Amino acid sequence: MDRRSFIRASVITTVAFKMGVAAAAPASAVSNPAVYLFAHPDDEVIAAGGDIATHVAAGQHVILVTMTRGEGTGASCSMGIRPAEAGRRRVQEIRDVGAYLGVQEVIAPGEGDMSFVGGYDGALRTERVRQAIEWLVERHGSIRLKTHSPWDRYSSWPEGGHMDHRAVSEATMQAHADGLVTDVRMWRLGHIVEPERNSDVSAVRPLSDHQPVKSAAVDIYMEGVAGFSTPAMLTEARTADEGVDSL
Ligand SMILES: [Zn+2]
Repeated sequence: MDRRSFIRASVITTVAFKMGVAAAAPASAVSNPAVYLFAHPDDEVIAAGGDIATHVAAGQHVILVTMTRGEGTGASCSMGIRPAEAGRRRVQEIRDVGAYLGVQEVIAPGEGDMSFVGGYDGALRTERVRQAIEWLVERHGSIRLKTHSPWDRYSSWPEGGHMDHRAVSEATMQAHADGLVTDVRMWRLGHIVEPERNSDVSAVRPLSDHQPVKSAAVDIYMEGVAGFSTPAMLTEARTADEGVDSL
C-alpha cells in the first residue's frame, strides 16, 4: 500500500492496540518503558529513528516525548501562520510519526494529560525537563531514558549550541548523577555532517535493518511540514548510522 494508506492503517492498528493494552494494563502501569525524550518534534527521528524502530520491532513499550510543541520555528513567519498553529501542526506530525513507527504513546505539552508540563520552543528550561523526568519516573516506577547528547552538534557542551537541546541533556545528566535514572542513552544530531567530532561516540548502530522504516518516518516530516524542519538534517538522517553516547 502507499505510505498514506500505511499511515492510516498504522493509526488504526495503534489505536486498537492501545485500547487492548488499556483494558489489561493502563499506560501508567507499564514498568521500565523505553522513553525517547527530545526537545522538538523531529529530533527523535533525526537522532534515533532507527533505534526507535528497533525497540518497537522487539515488542517493547515505547513512548515518544517532545518537551516543546516546536512552535518557535522560524518557518511560521515565512508561512504566515501563528506560532500556536505551527505548534499544533508539528505536534500532529510527531503523532503521525509515532503512529507510523508503532509506538504506544506520544506525549506533548499542552494536551492530553495536563500533569505533564513542557516548555516553549526556544525557551525550554532545565527545571521543566527535570520535572518531566520525575513525572515519568513516578508514573512508571523506572524508565529507560533515550535523549539528546550534551556532545550534540547543536548543543556542543559547554560551548553553547541549541539551548533547548542543552536543557534536555543537562537535566538528563543531573537526573543520572542523582540516581533518578540509571539506564540512559544519548544521541547526537548531525553525526554524519561532522564525523570528526564523533570519534569518541560509545557505539554506532548501523541502520541496515531499520533504515527503510526510519527513511519513511523522516519523509513524514519532510512532506508534512513544508519547511518546519531543517531539510539538510532530515536528508542526512535518512541514511545516517546512529551515534550513541552512554552514561
Ligand atoms: Zn531540536
